[in-house]
Amino acid sequence: MGVEGIIADGPEALPKLPPVHNVLIVGAGLTGLATALALHRLGVDAVVVLEQSKSLRNEGAALTLFPNAWRVLDALGVADVLRPHFINIMGPHEMRQVERKQLLAALYNPIPKGVVRFNSRVTAVRKPAGAAGPQAAAGVTQVELEDGTIYSTKVLLGCDGGGSVIAKWAGLTKPQPVGQIVIRGLCKCEQGALHNLEPVYQHVIGKGVRLGLTPVTHDKVYWFLVFNASSSPSAQAARSGTTQYITDPLQIREEALQHTKGWPQDVVKWIEKTPIEGLNRGIIRDRCTWSVTPTRHSVLMSMMTPAAAALRFFWNKPAAATVPLSNAITLVGDAWHPMTPNLAQGGCIALEDSITVARKLHQALNNIKKPNKKNNKNNVKQLHKTITTLSHSATTTLTTTTTTNSSCMKSNYKLNLEEEELLWAEQMPRVIAALAEYQRERRFRTFVVTVKSHLFGSFLGWDSSLVCFLRDKVILPLTFRASAVFGVTTYDCGQLVRFDNTQSSA
Ligand SMILES: Cc1cc2nc3c(=O)[nH]c(=O)nc-3n(C[C@H](O)[C@H](O)[C@H](O)COP(=O)(O)OP(=O)(O)OC[C@H]3O[C@@H](n4cnc5c(N)ncnc54)[C@H](O)[C@@H]3O)c2cc1C
Repeated sequence: MGVEGIIADGPEALPKLPPVHNVLIVGAGLTGLATALALHRLGVDAVVVLEQSKSLRNEGAALTLFPNAWRVLDALGVADVLRPHFINIMGPHEMRQVERKQLLAALYNPIPKGVVRFNSRVTAVRKPAGAAGPQAAAGVTQVELEDGTIYSTKVLLGCDGGGSVIAKWAGLTKPQPVGQIVIRGLCKCEQGALHNLEPVYQHVIGKGVRLGLTPVTHDKVYWFLVFNASSSPSAQAARSGTTQYITDPLQIREEALQHTKGWPQDVVKWIEKTPIEGLNRGIIRDRCTWSVTPTRHSVLMSMMTPAAAALRFFWNKPAAATVPLSNAITLVGDAWHPMTPNLAQGGCIALEDSITVARKLHQALNNIKKPNKKNNKNNVKQLHKTITTLSHSATTTLTTTTTTNSSCMKSNYKLNLEEEELLWAEQMPRVIAALAEYQRERRFRTFVVTVKSHLFGSFLGWDSSLVCFLRDKVILPLTFRASAVFGVTTYDCGQLVRFDNTQSSA
């Protein structure tokens, strides 16, 4: 069905019109790769992924993946590539700390070569200039790269993370800092030594600062340190008019050690031992219209922070509610709902999004009616016939173009492109409905997890002595139920089932 082959003869021989892809994904992070792989597993072709970097992302240390993520990785067929390498931290509930670079590689490797295009930074989204006829009617979208290259697509998926250009295009507000900073470290034991840590998650909570520590493999340990931005030297530097961000790894390590001064040595030693290239520092952001600044000085304000945050959240309509769908464009993962890492769910939820959107698109592009509903067999057969004819025509065009002169190539190309667009005009209402369904299905879940994660982080970020005393001695022991916080991690977003039209009409 795809028209990829049409460009096989090189740019001079072909007209300027770019081929139309079925699905164009912006961003080859966790979300973009998982979505591309899910589409591949479902047999959706003519998919392309544009990634601004020259290779897969290498930094970011490790991610905690909970059962909801493992279900998705199982569905994608890559979980068993990863499981043997990473320790299961919580026994019956699968929870592993997975190195990001290995996770990305596991998702990338099964995707056919040429689908992911590196050094491809998207700078603009638009409708084709002067589009007329089927192209305008069918709502084909174009994206432009930094170097001027143009891609046309039926469906555009913004998987480009928190700073998403697609989200900006869709009118979503920028993710806002929540007033906390995180330093992450991945420490490898030297010369084949083992860390001998229990396979458990350790959490140390202090005043406005907390540290989590887990084994990743038998010789690697991951830790993160979260602290209030107001207590950071960079905040002080910003106030005094000097530098705002810390990028020097030696300074980052120093900052982490400052915040853990006087803490037990069996925790601090991992910060000391982490090589500087294993360190990473970032400002925590999420997308909602409130901003919570943990207060250092006011007990009352400290106590009110979570309540105020909740009120403001519900009072202000969250900006990340929906994405305009008129051009079959939507957002997936952090591009849609960047969240704080307090529940370690951003990546897990992004994986859930990925297979949900892929499933919906697979059904819509192939005109698969929902199971259990009586299908219109004639329509399905007719569409199947059209698709077969078009696929045949695409192949014929490719063969012809290699043997005939350039004017003939142009007319074949045009004819094919128009057929493809006519097919898209027929598919588009289904695809738009499918994307709307995806947004509906995911919106509430992502909203709830974003709120929980935000409130949990602000609660743990309290830094007044009295409030921390109450939190640690009264509130936490009496009210904290791990199931309430981690209950979100057992969600099952379903399998990837590949249908074809004949099956669906049965
Ligand atoms: C400190 C911290 C700890 C975390 N810990 C966990 C955890 O333990 N567990 C968990 O599940 N989640 C965790 N998360 C969340 C998780 O990292 C994210 O949810 C996840 O990385 C989102 O993936 P993504 O692909 O949507 O975005 P990203 O990982 O940001 O990937 C976006 C990709 O798009 C590319 N891109 C951006 N703009 C363009 C453009 N214009 N053109 C082309 N390409 C572009 C980028 O180069 C990048 O490769 C954590 C987050 C933070 C900040």
